[in-house]
Amino acid sequence: MARRKIVAGNWKMNMTPSQAVELCATLKDLVVSDEVDVVYCVPAIDIIPVVEAVKGTNVAVGAENMYFEAKGAYTGEISAEMLVDAGVKYVIIGHSERRDYFKECDCLLNKKVKKALEAGLVPILCCGESLEQREMGVTMDWIRLQIKSDLVGVTADQVKGMVIAYEPIWAIGTGKTATTEQAEEVCKGIRECIAEMYDTDTAEAVRIQYGGSVSASNAAELFAQPNIDGGLVGGASLKADFGKIVNYK
Ligand code: PEP
Repeated sequence: MARRKIVAGNWKMNMTPSQAVELCATLKDLVVSDEVDVVYCVPAIDIIPVVEAVKGTNVAVGAENMYFEAKGAYTGEISAEMLVDAGVKYVIIGHSERRDYFKECDCLLNKKVKKALEAGLVPILCCGESLEQREMGVTMDWIRLQIKSDLVGVTADQVKGMVIAYEPIWAIGTGKTATTEQAEEVCKGIRECIAEMYDTDTAEAVRIQYGGSVSASNAAELFAQPNIDGGLVGGASLKADFGKIVNYK
């Protein structure tokens, strides 16, 4: 069965609650699609107004992060249960900005993935290599290590419902997109890794996005690749262009 494409915006630390509601209104008609799942991953403070703003539309809401504990003395953190109760469906886990600036390691990310799944959220698990790693020729080794570590204890059925986002760090927010061949090669490698870890059915079911300077002009070529099931979009998700990315055909 063909995998359904999924295009998710990662708003990062942008949009105050009132700006968020305005952006939802601007994008409302532009992101309508029967063929693509559309997600806005928004800052925690924007979740409640955005859930309200997209009610009755084809847009689902995602969080950009969560903590793995259910509740308690974790000042500043947000639990999976809180996200679910607020109407969130997806959660980005392991974005390179969180791995890098907030020192999130694979051991922590594995706990987050398991907790998100247990709570009924769809994790959008990010992985990707640095420019140095690409130049050293260890891209796929690094990504396989990330995927294997982050999925320890996750069942095949759970993986089937997940999203994995391949995001080369050197392509995020830089305007430097990976070539279509580079993006497809790694997404295919991720699928092969899932097949080895689980089985072919699981590998064929999991959705794998490309992220890194996706734009209205490169989305069609990227998303046409056999192993690329859509995109995780940063900068271009904050403007009307996001509608063109969703309706990339
Ligand atoms: C991202 O933040 O996940 C991302 C891919 O950003 P950008 O599209 O701006 O490169």
